[in-house]
Amino acid sequence: MSLFENTLAQIEKAGSLVNLDDEIKLILSNPQRRVRVSIPIRMDDGSLKIFQGFRVQHNNAMGPYKGGFRYHPQVDMEEVKALSAWMTMKCAVVGIPLGGGKGGVMVDPKQLSESELERLTRGYVRMLEPVLGPEMDVPAPDVNTDSKMMDWFADEYSKLKGKDMRGVVTGKTIEAGGSKGRSEATAQGGVFVLEEYIKDKGLNPKDTKVVIQGFGNAGGVAAKLLAAMDFEIVGVSDSQGGLVCSHGIDPAGLMTCKIEKNSVKNCGIHVEELQGIEGATCRVVTNEELLEQECDILVLAALENQITIDNADQIKAKVILELANGPITPEADEILNKNGITVLPDILANAGGVTVSYFEMLQNHDDKYWSEEEVAEKLKKTMVDAWKAVFENSQKYKCSLRNAAFVTALIRLEEKIKEKGLNKL
Ligand code: NAD
Repeated sequence: MSLFENTLAQIEKAGSLVNLDDEIKLILSNPQRRVRVSIPIRMDDGSLKIFQGFRVQHNNAMGPYKGGFRYHPQVDMEEVKALSAWMTMKCAVVGIPLGGGKGGVMVDPKQLSESELERLTRGYVRMLEPVLGPEMDVPAPDVNTDSKMMDWFADEYSKLKGKDMRGVVTGKTIEAGGSKGRSEATAQGGVFVLEEYIKDKGLNPKDTKVVIQGFGNAGGVAAKLLAAMDFEIVGVSDSQGGLVCSHGIDPAGLMTCKIEKNSVKNCGIHVEELQGIEGATCRVVTNEELLEQECDILVLAALENQITIDNADQIKAKVILELANGPITPEADEILNKNGITVLPDILANAGGVTVSYFEMLQNHDDKYWSEEEVAEKLKKTMVDAWKAVFENSQKYKCSLRNAAFVTALIRLEEKIKEKGLNKL
């Protein structure tokens, strides 16, 4: 099954629980617009290269298309279609007036210099310019894209339009009109959901072992936030491999080491030294082994399709927090469910990022900027409300939290599509 077929299976399953109108299902099963661009870039050595870029605008019933763009060698149309549909669902789950979009460029950004990356980002904007805009489609950071690139994006689009159009993209640096709290928002939103979930479970963070797959924006910040709450981080991985430590990991120290030594897997001795705990040991594990470690909470914060039919039965965590999009396939989801493992699903758990992106759009529009506390308070309220709606639906429809999150989104989307008469065209 392709990633987009996975998404359709999720819509089908949740749709059947609420008798979703067939025409609404048809609308939501077909992205409204798919754009494929060829971006010519002059490389530092003087040669010309063409990079393939994508933008999918899945649905704008709720508001302008919204969703990040990534730089990764495996980006393709099927992946971007799925990611854009999840954005539509995610915005509906948290109840913000935005639709779903997503983009990406097929590139290994590690092979490009900073100036080549800048030319690529600006080239991507020039190619997509006709379909972008603060009231049309507003991209944001995703895998391998960051706030500096969002600043280039805003600058290029503003140049094309001949005026300040910083609201065309979110996740910018504070200096360029970004929101406070945006870089922490995805992880923070997930942590708010986790806190709600564990409230009744009597879990004591000190006795709760956490493993985190992915140590970038989502996973790195999650590690920092969870360690600050006294959870014990026992394993972390990045694209090169993982590290599992007997006496916990200090995320700040590990991040410093990763920057210096390129991967967490090169930081074992460093971590022991930092902790100063006698007898503490760390061992390097493969990405596959990391997922199968003994732990209470597994945070997935890397890429899609990480838990599949092949490894679902080996997962030992009791709870999985999906900060990544689509890290568990539908077949694997069923196995985890059967094995009593609770999944806090992506379209709820990682919606903090798009929520603070929406706050950034509001601040750019009014040219008034909020304090960090104001952002955190509003984010918490949005995430807790979304959690309550999803939890209630899981009870009402006697289904998993994932199905309940889709149910929550589909009910709201059906209502909006009918209210706007988008099914009557
Ligand atoms: P990032 O590029 O900052 O970090 C990705 C991390 O995953 C890196 O540490 C990378 O080395 C690691 N990684 C890649 N392949 C791996 C593998 N096979 N095993 C272990 N680690 C691997 O990206 P990010 O922004 O943190 O995004 C991570 C996930 O979160 C993606 O699925 C993204 O769509 C999702 N997400 C991000 C945001 C956001 O605001 N950045 C919002 C919502 C969802």
